[in-house]
Amino acid sequence: MNTGFETYQLAEEHEALREAVRALSEKEIAPHAAEVDEQERYPYEALDALVRSGFSAVHVPEEYGGQGADSVATCIVIEEVARVCASSSLIPAVNKLGTMPILLSASEDLKQQVMPAIASGEATASYALSEREAGSDAASMKTRAKRDGDNWVLNGTKCWITNGSESTWFTVMAVTDPDKGSNGISAFAVHKDDPGFVVGPKEKKLGIKGSPTVELYFEDCTIPGDRIIGDEGTGFKTALRTLDHTRPTIGAQALGIAQGALDASVEYVKDRKQFGQAVADFQGVQFMLADMAMKIEAARHMVYVSAARAERGEGNLGFISAAAKCYASDVAMEVTTDAVQLFGGAGYTRDFPVERMMRDAKITQIYEGTNQIQRMVMARSLLKG
Ligand SMILES: Cc1cc2nc3c(=O)[nH]c(=O)nc-3n(C[C@H](O)[C@H](O)[C@H](O)COP(=O)(O)OP(=O)(O)OC[C@H]3O[C@@H](n4cnc5c(N)ncnc54)[C@H](O)[C@@H]3O)c2cc1C
Repeated sequence: MNTGFETYQLAEEHEALREAVRALSEKEIAPHAAEVDEQERYPYEALDALVRSGFSAVHVPEEYGGQGADSVATCIVIEEVARVCASSSLIPAVNKLGTMPILLSASEDLKQQVMPAIASGEATASYALSEREAGSDAASMKTRAKRDGDNWVLNGTKCWITNGSESTWFTVMAVTDPDKGSNGISAFAVHKDDPGFVVGPKEKKLGIKGSPTVELYFEDCTIPGDRIIGDEGTGFKTALRTLDHTRPTIGAQALGIAQGALDASVEYVKDRKQFGQAVADFQGVQFMLADMAMKIEAARHMVYVSAARAERGEGNLGFISAAAKCYASDVAMEVTTDAVQLFGGAGYTRDFPVERMMRDAKITQIYEGTNQIQRMVMARSLLKG
C-alpha cells in the first residue's frame, strides 16, 4: 500500500475549497433558492455572499486582483453552489464565460480595464454570441461592427444572454467583414453604459428562473477602438476557444444539480415509510440510488479531467470538454428525473427541491451548445485523424 499515491486524488486545497463553498452555500444560498425560483428574481443574497467570500469570480488571475483559482477549483465552486441553487451558480460560471475571451485574447490594456472590477465583485460579465436566427449555427450571426474613426459602431440584436440585465461588461461577437465567413467575425468588450446599448425583456423560462436571460440591442452602439478583443477577424476562434474552457464549468453545474438531487433523495427515502418500512429498504429503490451515484461519480471524473486539461493548456480540448459537458448534463437530467420519481407525489410539488432541480438540469443539455452539437464536436474529433 502506498498512502502517498496521489494520482486521481484532488489536492488538499481543492477539498478545503469544497468544504468552504459547501458551508457558505448551505448557510447563505440554499435558504433563498426556492423563493428565487418562485419569484423569478435574481439571487442578490447569493451574489453578496459569493462576493464577500471571494467566490464570485475565482478564476481571475492574481495579477488582476483575483484569486487565481485553477480550472478544477473553479469547477468545484460552481458545482457546490449548483448543488443548492443552479441559478446562483451562474454567477461564478458566467463571470468566467464572459471574461474568458478577454483573458485568452485581449490586449493587456483591455484586461486591465475589465478584470480588476470583475475580481472584486464590483462588476460582472456576460457572453453574447447567440442570435435569434444564429444559435447552433452561431457563425451565421448578423450583428455588425464597423469602424468609425477611432471607434467601433455595433448594430444588431443578441439573444438568450445569461444574466444580461445584471452584467456590467459583455463580450460581444459581431461581423466586421461579411465576405469572410467565420474569419470575418470579431470580438468586442461592451460596457452597459456605452451609448446605444439597450437591454431587452426577460425570457419566461422552464428553469434557472433566478438567472435573467435577455435580449441585447445594439443601436449604433459606439465603443472606443481599443475595446476590440484580439485582432480583427479572430472573434469566432476566440469564442470557440472560450467554450473549450467553459464547457467543463457547465459540466460542473450539471454535476452539482445532480448531487443536490441525490442527497435530497437519500434523505427522503430513509425517512418516508410505506408497507411498514422505510422506502430505502426496498431493493428497487436502492438500485435506483446506486445508479444515480454511479453516474454522478463518472461525470465528476470527466468534468475534473477536462478542467485539468484546460488548465494545463493542452491542445485539442474539443473532444474532452464537449464530452464532459454532454455526459454530465445527460446524467443531471437522468438523476433529477429519478429523484422526482423517488419522492413520489411529493416530488412533483414545489414543497421539495427536486422538481426545481429537474427543471434546472434541462438547460445544461442546451446551452453552450446543445448536446447534439457536443456529439458533432466529439465525432468530428474522432473522424479527423
Ligand atoms: C436559458 C438560456 C441561456 C443562454 N445563455 C446564453 C448566453 O449567455 N450567451 C449566448 O451567446 N447564448 C446563450 N444561450 C443560447 C444557447 O447557447 C442556444 O440556445 C443553443 O446554442 C442552441 O441554439 P438554438 O436555441 O438557436 O437552437 P437551434 O440551433 O435552433 O437548434 C434546434 C434543435 O436542432 C438541433 N440541431 C441544430 N443543428 C444541428 C445539427 N447540425 N445536427 C444535429 N442537431 C442540430 C439542436 O440540437 C436543437 O435540438 C442560452 C440559451 C438559453 C435557453
